[in-house]
Amino acid sequence: MDRRNDSLVLIAGGAGFIGSHLADALLAEGCRVLCIDNFQTGRYANIRHLEREPGFDAIDADVIDPLPARLTRSGCVISQIYNLACAASPPHYQANPEHTLLTNVLGTRHLLQLAELHKARFLLASTSEVYGDPEIHPQRESYWGNVNPTGPRACYDEGKRAAETLTFDFQRGGRVDVRVARIFNTYGPRMRADDGRVVSNVVTQALAGDDITIYGSGDQTRSFCYIDDLVQGLIRLMEYEHAYRGAVNLGNPTEMKVRELAERVMELTGTHSNIIFRPLPVDDPRRRRPDISIARKILDWAPRVPLETGLRQTIAYFTAAARAAAELSIQRQPRHRRKADTPRVAAQ
Ligand code: UDP
Repeated sequence: MDRRNDSLVLIAGGAGFIGSHLADALLAEGCRVLCIDNFQTGRYANIRHLEREPGFDAIDADVIDPLPARLTRSGCVISQIYNLACAASPPHYQANPEHTLLTNVLGTRHLLQLAELHKARFLLASTSEVYGDPEIHPQRESYWGNVNPTGPRACYDEGKRAAETLTFDFQRGGRVDVRVARIFNTYGPRMRADDGRVVSNVVTQALAGDDITIYGSGDQTRSFCYIDDLVQGLIRLMEYEHAYRGAVNLGNPTEMKVRELAERVMELTGTHSNIIFRPLPVDDPRRRRPDISIARKILDWAPRVPLETGLRQTIAYFTAAARAAAELSIQRQPRHRRKADTPRVAAQ
């Protein structure tokens, strides 16, 4: 496909797990892609393969700060802006809560102002966390949510809610043409091993033969969407041309208990790890499942990748990453150590 040759697409958070897959997909469709990332949780390794792509470029900058001058220069014409800039895993976004909140408020404002300047279309990557610990199940976009505004998750949940407010205010003011995606739990290759999320934790623990940590009883539910499905949903929403302007849930409606997910991963890896139980984090949502009727209707979108297929891809990715890390650590050892560690082959 080569349908948007002239368009420059800006991906804020383009070196992250979702952003880098989105960059791959847009480049494959013939777009030019500029990624901006502060590399807080995004990684250079996620975009290294794009380094030699003529249509790709990356800037190391934080959207909290005034945006780099090259984005506002007259020669630069941006047609679409995806705002995926924010740490998304609870341990990462809670590590610096003030930064998380401001990324969503100031960062979103900077990017909306940039979109206004360029007359670019703007897509906000919002989250299922705007529903908090939901009392309505499954979650429809019309549900206002049940968020604790003072708890440890609030920096992210309230940050994203404020980002949605700002985005829709720019829309209402006729300043920017916007799209808002509420993304539910997404998994796949390029998640960080230290992301702290259940899929990355369980897969890395299973592969290492370590104890598998389940928080609480493991009866809490999530609905896991494979990255390729999500990326297609994001692109379709950005390209959507008709009347609907509300938020759109993007996620996989197949719901499961966290314990069941751990068991599936244990089966697929053949691990001998044991499950251990740890305290449930504060305000951890008990149930989560998207109602994707709107996405189905207006985008003709629904996830296609079955959990087992997605998990196999994810396990293969973490297996390769662990092997590469082990090889690197061997190469970094002093030569004499390497020799001494080499197993002796018995003389025949
Ligand atoms: N969880 C778990 N073990 C882990 C990491 C997470 O049982 O090692 C639980 C967590 O408490 C939550 C669910 O898995 O109930 C999903 O957590 P994750 O951090 O992946 O996403 P989120 O809570 O943001 O949906």
